[in-house]
Amino acid sequence: MTTTIEVSHVKKSYGKKVVLADINLNIKKGEIHGLIGPSGSGKTTLVKMIVGMNETDTGSIHVLSKQVPNLLLLQKIGYMAQSDALYTELTGLENLKFFAALYKLNKKEQKERIAYTTNLVNLTSELKEKVSNYSGGMKRRLSLAIGLIQDPEIIILDEPTVGIDPELRQSIWRELYRLKEEGKTIIITTHVMSEAERCDVISMIRDGGILEQGSPASLKEKYNADNFDDVFLKAGRKQT
Ligand code: ADP
Repeated sequence: MTTTIEVSHVKKSYGKKVVLADINLNIKKGEIHGLIGPSGSGKTTLVKMIVGMNETDTGSIHVLSKQVPNLLLLQKIGYMAQSDALYTELTGLENLKFFAALYKLNKKEQKERIAYTTNLVNLTSELKEKVSNYSGGMKRRLSLAIGLIQDPEIIILDEPTVGIDPELRQSIWRELYRLKEEGKTIIITTHVMSEAERCDVISMIRDGGILEQGSPASLKEKYNADNFDDVFLKAGRKQT
């Protein structure tokens, strides 16, 4: 399988605080890759560098064989940030249209993609309301729709299902599996172990590095654990 994302010896500090010490990752086309780790371990910092929003201190990142940052990649990477970047004085529909226009979708594509993404996140009936009236969960759903609007090859979702009810979470995961079958590459950050278990490959981030990597089944076997909380605890203990 071809490599879609390659992170090579990446280091990032804020002031004196080393957040990521030496990160190496190789993510294949069609893979759902989970970045898991405690809050503050650097998951958001890492995905922002992959998207090209944050600079690395040292090391390099290549996406689709292009060194990041690269304007040509913007169209190809869909990003759902942890904190919602929405225009709250506009309606949900106006937000979607704004981003669809930014990605230069024509009128027909805009209509189709807005229908598809809003149906996926179950927001169709609230589209004409102002975002300032949305609940936290609705804003997350709108952010996810925006992250998928340009039909990107690579989908990066930072804690996507926080504040989303279990039924919708199931349908979002069903859709992620379908997108994977289409050959999309997906990165998802989470600190929820049940979400991590749904990924093809997991990288556990801790103390600035990747503590463990593998499929959920292989990691459970390695640590002789029934569930993922246990894997995480045992992997953490191994280190200390
Ligand atoms: P996670 O996504 O795993 O919760 P983050 O990547 O958000 O972790 O944060 C990792 C660490 O980097 C935290 O200690 C956070 O306070 C720090 N950090 C993140 N962004 C900045 C920034 N812009 N300036 C200073 N410190 C930051």
